[in-house]
Amino acid sequence: MPQLLGTVAHVDVSRRQMLALLGGSIGLGYLFTACRSALESATHSVATATTAASHEESNTAITTPPAPEAVPQTTSSTGINPPSPITSPASPETLAVIAREGWSFRQQGAFRSHQIERITIHHTAAEITDNSRAPALIRQHEDWHMSHGWPGLAYHFIIDRAGNVYEGRPISAIGDTFTEYDPTGHLLASFEGHFDRQSPSDAQLAGMTRLVAWAMQTYSVPAQLIGGHRDWARTTCPGSNMYWRLGGLARAAADHGTVELGYLRNDAAIDRVAQISAGQ
Ligand SMILES: [Zn+2]
Repeated sequence: MPQLLGTVAHVDVSRRQMLALLGGSIGLGYLFTACRSALESATHSVATATTAASHEESNTAITTPPAPEAVPQTTSSTGINPPSPITSPASPETLAVIAREGWSFRQQGAFRSHQIERITIHHTAAEITDNSRAPALIRQHEDWHMSHGWPGLAYHFIIDRAGNVYEGRPISAIGDTFTEYDPTGHLLASFEGHFDRQSPSDAQLAGMTRLVAWAMQTYSVPAQLIGGHRDWARTTCPGSNMYWRLGGLARAAADHGTVELGYLRNDAAIDRVAQISAGQ
């Protein structure tokens, strides 16, 4: 569905410009993001005042990022000096996705449909070190989001610390946000973690690179239309330890070979989530 969403067909400079504009015009009432709210839900016993403060502080300045690192990237190279049959292309890489029923069967109300035009990266803002907690955290995010009347989890995908990819709401459904941007047309892909406090794991980056590669190929999204939540709204999401990596991630995804999604469904999805929860 065509609509405005402004022109974000630019890169770092305009990100800063947009942030400056937003920072000057948006009230404190909009500081609650889906991501941050998830943190409150997940770690409500932790001092949320501190969280709010760091959130706002991080909004005030984007400092010069460190030199970009190469995003870990799986290679499709098949070895040294392969016979190279030029006419047969490399077979697509399959990225496993845990279907929604693996972790939740909940839904309330109706989704609104859209068509994917761009990709927006998030973090859940829930700090996680023990990845066996990931499925429980994702359920908490869903509970929190649904407590606000949303039909389900706000995001289309979540990637945990080990690189497992979880299906969220249907891709054809518009995401949800507490912040002041319209997520229509955005594929919302979120990391599990709090990247103002920790860094993404290599497995997460590799998983996100493949997921973004798949989405770029499937929806014809150019690298310029891959951004972070921070590019659209007053939030630190996807966190200062991830935001500066977005350009490298987009380049790696653009250069990546063909990716297909392979869904684990029903019992296979439930079994996989049980394994993850058991630390496997
Ligand atoms: Zn976000």
